[in-house]
Amino acid sequence: MPAHDVLILGACLAGQRAALAAADAGATVAILSKVHPVRSHSVAAAGGINAAINPADDWRSHAFDTVKGSDFLGDQDAIEVMCAEAPDEVLHLEHIGVTFHRNETGQMDLRAFGGASMKRTAYVADITGQAILHVLYEQLMKYHERVDRYEEWFTTSLLQDEEGNCTGCIARDIRTGQLEVFTAKNVILATGGAGQCFKPTTNGLICTGDGISMAYRIGAPLMDMEMIQYHPTTLVENGFLITEGARGEGAHLLNADGERFMEKYAPNKMELASRDVVSRAEQTEINEGRGVGPGGVGIYLDITVVPKKRTLEALREIVNIGKDFAGVDITKEPILIRPGQHYIMGGVKTDVNGATPIPGLYAAGEVACVSVHGGNRLGANSLLDTLIFGRRAGEHAAQRAAGISMPEATPLSRVREESAWIDSIIDRPKDGRRVSEIKDDLGTEMNRNVAVFREQDGLTHALETVRRLKEEAKTAYIDDRGTVFNQDVLGAIELGFMLDCAECTVMAALERKESRGAQYRTDFPERNDDEWLKHIDVSRNGDDTPHLSYSPVTITQWQPEERKY
Ligand SMILES: Cc1cc2nc3c(=O)[nH]c(=O)nc-3n(C[C@H](O)[C@H](O)[C@H](O)COP(=O)(O)OP(=O)(O)OC[C@H]3O[C@@H](n4cnc5c(N)ncnc54)[C@H](O)[C@@H]3O)c2cc1C
Repeated sequence: MPAHDVLILGACLAGQRAALAAADAGATVAILSKVHPVRSHSVAAAGGINAAINPADDWRSHAFDTVKGSDFLGDQDAIEVMCAEAPDEVLHLEHIGVTFHRNETGQMDLRAFGGASMKRTAYVADITGQAILHVLYEQLMKYHERVDRYEEWFTTSLLQDEEGNCTGCIARDIRTGQLEVFTAKNVILATGGAGQCFKPTTNGLICTGDGISMAYRIGAPLMDMEMIQYHPTTLVENGFLITEGARGEGAHLLNADGERFMEKYAPNKMELASRDVVSRAEQTEINEGRGVGPGGVGIYLDITVVPKKRTLEALREIVNIGKDFAGVDITKEPILIRPGQHYIMGGVKTDVNGATPIPGLYAAGEVACVSVHGGNRLGANSLLDTLIFGRRAGEHAAQRAAGISMPEATPLSRVREESAWIDSIIDRPKDGRRVSEIKDDLGTEMNRNVAVFREQDGLTHALETVRRLKEEAKTAYIDDRGTVFNQDVLGAIELGFMLDCAECTVMAALERKESRGAQYRTDFPERNDDEWLKHIDVSRNGDDTPHLSYSPVTITQWQPEERKY
């Protein structure tokens, strides 16, 4: 039974950054991941990472843009920490080997991104996440004597002692089906987002909200769960992402009349307004009959206005995606896109050190809600969030470990219970529904009623659906009865995680009776600071239903004002 000072669940950007920081601070560390680390969703991040590196820029300007982007729901103390520490973090990445793009004068090049008042996004063509992830993984290999890696291990539950401290986790070795207890003084959740609750989504199949649900199940509060980001440019055919970098390089959005319609919605920033604003504008054009393509359900993204040489250099991945997945040469013709689910602003509530209210439990990256993104995340602020708060959580957990002793071993009966639960899923008779069907129904319902525009009736329908699916999931069956690489049974466990996340999202969206950031209620179209300038926290009731409460938004220097782009 392995025991460590710091156990990190998730070996993505947040997880790997946390591991390196905790090891540097002298802790014994283990990092565990359900897929090989370089297959984590961070590998898909394309556009870049924000930092006020340009001497003419200032981190306060980055912070203000982030506060405004969040529609004033972000906590300003946390945003200040993230933006102030950003330049050093990005330079650190460069020093350890990330080959950020440089301009003709040899300086780090920065590209324009949505909602930013100046060019602030460092990038490696359109494979920024991959570039950073691989360099961090190299570092992790270098630390092989100080960090134990458990690759292709699936965490099923968090452990807690009688005083309520988090003391580790139970995980299944995917290769063999063996369950193991991992004991730890501190656990850092770095398990990423929950985009798979929606269909389609830009997120990888592994983004199933595992950490959010596991934390919720042991009593950790979640926050801002109603805030779901729809990215303005995803392929109509399959939801694949076309990076915001395309608009950053100058691409236009056009409706059926060939009009750059963003003029009507955001005359100053046009295509580079914040994502919630652009997605809403596109959906309005589509709903009012000015969409393009079959059924008028799309919008044209015209990248032909970007010089071809630049497209081939800076957007080469989406040249390939366009060809392979839409049959379009983006250097020659516009490509059909529409808003699609992309990111969740909410997650496990933490402070600026990643600590949750449960002693010994930390969270960082997309699983967490610090809250730096509030109602709407700015593009290229998430990679930054994973690294800054991953590092801080790693350092803080290492420090905490120095002052406490190793928790006692978890009773074997707890592992037997877990094992019996998993076996019971494998053994279910085929008289219920298939796990995959329930997942499809969930995604379709969420995408219909918990999307860019929301209202009472649709949300109520979504809640009823999620609750029905939760019941059906209890008897849902799988095909694989084996132990070796049984992905089927993991899929059934993930479905339970997703249903928890979806239920919290819908409840919070029903509760927030105003429009702010990504939450646009057609029945409450105005932002209402008097009543709703507050976070909605969700924790689990004893009876397995979400309980809602509120917490204040931290305001340091920027008073809420009307948001215009
Ligand atoms: C297509 C795409 C493009 C993006 N582009 C950008 C961009 O250009 N700039 C930007 O700032 N942001 C971008 N984002 C957002 C950003 O990439 C993500 O928010 C961020 O990478 C999340 O990183 P993470 O470290 O929190 O988790 P992830 O990268 O999602 O990794 C999660 C880790 O947790 C592990 N895990 C999960 N559940 C379990 C479990 N039960 N047991 C064991 N391990 C588990 C996984 O194996 C994985 O290692 C993009 C997102 C997408 C989907």
